[in-house]
Order: sequence, then C-alpha cells, then structure tokens
Amino acid sequence: MKTLFKFILFIFLTVSTQIGGLVYLISLFISKKWTRNFKFKTLILFTGLYLSSTLLIVPLIAPLFGREKVQHSDIIKPTNYVTVLMNRNYVRPKLNELLNETEQELIGTGIEIHYLDANFPFINKFPLLPHLSHNDGKKIDLSLIYETENGQISKKQKSRSGYGYFEHPKPSEFDQINKCLTHGYFQYDYPKYLTFGTVNSDLVFSITGTKLLINTILKSSKLGKLFIEPHLKSRMSLKDSRIRYHGCRAVRHDDHIHIQLK
Ligand SMILES: [Zn+2]
Repeated sequence: MKTLFKFILFIFLTVSTQIGGLVYLISLFISKKWTRNFKFKTLILFTGLYLSSTLLIVPLIAPLFGREKVQHSDIIKPTNYVTVLMNRNYVRPKLNELLNETEQELIGTGIEIHYLDANFPFINKFPLLPHLSHNDGKKIDLSLIYETENGQISKKQKSRSGYGYFEHPKPSEFDQINKCLTHGYFQYDYPKYLTFGTVNSDLVFSITGTKLLINTILKSSKLGKLFIEPHLKSRMSLKDSRIRYHGCRAVRHDDHIHIQLK
C-alpha cells in the first residue's frame, strides 16, 4: 500500500512538474541513508531539494536542451508564480525574442504580457499536461486583457490560475463551444475546473486591449500560429492567416491566447 502511494506520488510529481518525481526519489534515498530521525524528514528534504533545483539548478541545465526560462521584465510576468515553481515556464530562445519584440512595441500602452503555461525545461515530446502540444519549447499561453467598466486597461486577471474564466459567445455570435460539446468533445470546456477561484468581478473583457496585444504579437515574423476562440476573433475583427482554429480535440480558447513559433 505504501509503495503504491509512493508510486502514484512519483507519477503525479513527474507529470505536473517534470523534475518533481526524480527529486522525490532522491529525497527518499537520502532520507533512508540519513540515520538521524526527525518529523517530516522526507518532506523537508524534498522541499529543500525541489526549490533549489527549480530556482537554481534547472535554469542552468535547460540551455543544454535548447530551452531557457521566460525572461521577466516590467511588462512580461507570469499570471501566477506557481507556473515558475512548477517548471512550466521554459521556451526556446526564439520565443523569448518574440516576447521581447512584443514588449518593446507595448511600452507606454499600459498593456502587460501575462503568461501561463509554456513548456517544461527538458526533453522534446515530453507533454505538459493538460496541453496537447506544449512539448517542444515553441508554445506559450497568454492571458487575455481586461478593463474596468470605464474602459481603463487593467493588469489584473479574472481567474487565479489564469485558466477557466471564459469570455462566452454572445447570443448573436457563432458558438463553436456548443458545437464541440454537442459533437461529444466533452473535454472542450474542462478548463472551467482549473480556475482555483475567480477574482476581480468588476473587470470586463477588453476588446481594445486584447486586440492590441494580439496585433502586436502578429507583427513578429517569428510567430507561427495563434489560437483564439472564433467568436473572439470576429468580435475583435482580427484578420491574419496565422490566427487558426485549434479544433474540438483541444480545449476552448476564450479564457487565454495560445501562441507558437514557426
Ligand atoms: Zn497553449
């Protein structure tokens, strides 16, 4: 029973943080060899090893695998710092260049780039669940832009995790979500379980802010594709052949934007 629990924990830590499972095994090993006994020995060892690996060691090794951390600045930040603590913030250097180019263009607009899941630091094809494609360092999700009811651009989000707060289609708009759900793609709106709570109920979706962010990203020749739900694409009157529909097998994209390199 205890072995089964350890096995499940190992799998969970590996799937959610990539290095967590390995760090857990090392913690178990050290805990066994270390004769001194104290309460929560393995947990304390794991926490210390995990944090030092995540914050100090992994950033040094990742470039050997062609990836680096998303570079933070006054304008580029994670929506939730847990993304960084879970090693879900690694990209190819070219994607950092794309973000930096976008940042330069956004100076003075009041718009910030808040990023969500990117990729793990190591190994191509190692999936970053629940995303289907974030496995090669070329992908990153970005938060939508919100504004106050007076139209003042805000830097805040409506979901704690950054996922799962949907900007639903209006009655007059094409409803791709309903189409996917009625065709049996029941996973399509699963991100609704991932909000970890909604906040800032006074804010509303900013058409101008989000449109400016997307149009600025589209200026980069490094961009391959951008995914957003069709009703938001038409609400913002966006026209660019790189804005694609991701398909019903993915999840709905009216809570975030997905971008990827060529
Ligand atoms: Zn994505």
